[in-house]
Formats: sequence, C-alpha cells, structure tokens
Amino acid sequence: MLSDIYKIIRRRLIYVFAPWYILRQLKLRQSSCGDCTYCCDKKILWFKCKYFKDGRCGVYKTKKMPTLCWIYPIDKKDIWHNDKCKFWE
Ligand code: SF4
Ligand code: SF4
Repeated sequence: MLSDIYKIIRRRLIYVFAPWYILRQLKLRQSSCGDCTYCCDKKILWFKCKYFKDGRCGVYKTKKMPTLCWIYPIDKKDIWHNDKCKFWE
C-alpha cells in the first residue's frame, strides 16, 4: 500500500518535472500493453478507476484514456505492487 502511494507521487513528479525521461522510456519499452487489465483492477486507498467495468477498460486506447495510463509503467519501479505487467521483463 505505502509503496503504491510512493509510486503515485513519483509518477506524477516525473510527468511534471521530467517528461524527457518518459519519452526516453517509451522508446525503450520492450513490449506493448496486452490489455490484461492487471493495472486497472487495482484499488488505491478506497478508489478504483471509474472507467474499469466488467473487467475491461471502457476507454482503452481512445482519446479519453488518461495520459498516465498511456505511459504506465514508466519503468520497472513504476509497476504497481503485485501487478503482473510484463512491459519491463
Ligand atoms: S498491467 Fe501492463 S500489460 Fe496489463 S494492461 Fe496494465 S499496462 Fe497493459
Ligand atoms: S482508464 Fe482504463 S487503462 Fe486507465 S486505469 Fe482506468 S480502466 Fe485502466
């Protein structure tokens, strides 16, 4: 839980203060999002994403998809605790 809060803060700080790092990381990513929804099926504190319904993202790869979802995970450290995302393997 605490590590996920740290990740939320870190992700936003990188987004605001180091966009160049995100651009570099996007080029380095080995894989692409498999829409497995592990990252979306995550409850942070009491909140779960409002777009996540019936086990799917309702705005996946549309203009409504939040930027922070497009760039997730920025690097290995950015992956949620217990997430099985394979982007950086
Ligand atoms: S866990 Fe990774 S591969 Fe799965 S939906 Fe999220 S970003 Fe995509
Ligand atoms: S907007 Fe879609 S990709 Fe982003 S957390 Fe919500 S359900 Fe997942």
